[in-house]
Amino acid sequence: MADADPGTVDLAILGGGLAGGLIALALTLRRPEVRLVVVEEATVGGNHIWSHFASDVDQSSGWLVEPLIAHRWPAYDVAFPAHARTLDAPYRSITSERFADVLGARIPARSFVSARVTAARPGRVELADGRVIAAGAVIDARGPGDASTLDLGWQKFVGQTLHTAQPHGVTRPVVMDATVEQLDGYRFVYLLPLGERDIFVEDTYYSDQPDLDRPLLTARIAAYAEGRGWSTTSTARLESGVLPVVVGGDFAAYWDSTGTDLAKAGMRAGLFHPTTGYSLPDAIRLACVIAAADDLSHSALVELTHDYAFEAWAGRAFYRALDTMLFRAAEPTERYKVLERFYRLSPGLVQRFYAAESTWSDQLRILAGRPPVPIGRAFGSLLSGRRPRLGAL
Ligand SMILES: Cc1cc2nc3c(=O)[nH]c(=O)nc-3n(C[C@H](O)[C@H](O)[C@H](O)COP(=O)(O)OP(=O)(O)OC[C@H]3O[C@@H](n4cnc5c(N)ncnc54)[C@H](O)[C@@H]3O)c2cc1C
Repeated sequence: MADADPGTVDLAILGGGLAGGLIALALTLRRPEVRLVVVEEATVGGNHIWSHFASDVDQSSGWLVEPLIAHRWPAYDVAFPAHARTLDAPYRSITSERFADVLGARIPARSFVSARVTAARPGRVELADGRVIAAGAVIDARGPGDASTLDLGWQKFVGQTLHTAQPHGVTRPVVMDATVEQLDGYRFVYLLPLGERDIFVEDTYYSDQPDLDRPLLTARIAAYAEGRGWSTTSTARLESGVLPVVVGGDFAAYWDSTGTDLAKAGMRAGLFHPTTGYSLPDAIRLACVIAAADDLSHSALVELTHDYAFEAWAGRAFYRALDTMLFRAAEPTERYKVLERFYRLSPGLVQRFYAAESTWSDQLRILAGRPPVPIGRAFGSLLSGRRPRLGAL
């Protein structure tokens, strides 16, 4: 993507990752009169496969999402020691490559600025190369804020695409294969069949610790493939992540940790699912809201994104309580039982959970019955006011 002298624009978006890129795309498609720039210090879109359920996003956002989808499947599987199941819920993936291609094709080249942002305030963005952007409004989408303000567990993983000598035989994504040995908390393998002989394999842990041993997990991916009888002839994309699983914390402090005078989006705005750490559904929703906003002035965008993020945090206390159960009640090696039980519930409930749209009756249903782990311990720790910090990003 070409670089240009940014000069004066209506809107500067800081960070060309998922959230910043989606806002730029949405505005370009729906509000082409807005002169905008996206400032990215590395590669637009980064190195990800972002997956989501079709039901995570409103159908009315199809105009934004559909062109980005690189892979889609009509259903997915889960497998636990005592229970396996296929759920008829469409699942889709966006790759960074596709994301960058679509943005490059739709957004004018002059709107991409390749540089590191060193300082930003309302009206002015300073770049490491000395350039200055005068911007009517600034949205900060530069990734996570200060996670030490939150009480967290971690979802950490290494994923790799394997090319197999023979067809691997997997026809649907396996969102959780928890039949593997339970190590370092709740462990499962995640599979995306990208082609007859190409499969993305991710070794994942719901762990108390954020540290990630990439060589070890890469070796476990190879061992898993061998166990499935796949002969790997080559490997491709290697990606890793350490995503926050939120137990509690001070959201106002999280917001303030990256300043109070800019509009924010994505992880920077704390817009991610407390249990999965996934931010794609929120990023799509917020990009659509911004593209439809009457007022794109700086103060209006600050208010819009602030209120949106605080409302999302307030509405997701249930998921943080469940995370408390997962991390504080269950012995690490017993955590899988919480998910095993969850996946016995109705498909509609499961999908609403992933979309962070659980109804009251879903919440009652999830908590009803004999819990698979001693939840008294988890809520005891909440009631006693103990707020152990599990780590920092
Ligand atoms: C490997 C991986 C896989 C994931 N998979 C999924 C998934 O399947 N589904 C899902 O919903 N979520 C997923 N997530 C979680 C989350 O959705 C992603 O982390 C997502 O990319 C976050 O979006 P974002 O825009 O907030 O941050 P990012 O996408 O990280 O974008 C931030 C951008 O800001 C840039 N930047 C930072 N500082 C500066 C600076 N000073 N100047 C200029 N640019 C700067 C960075 O280079 C980066 O490109 C995944 C995360 C990881 C790490």
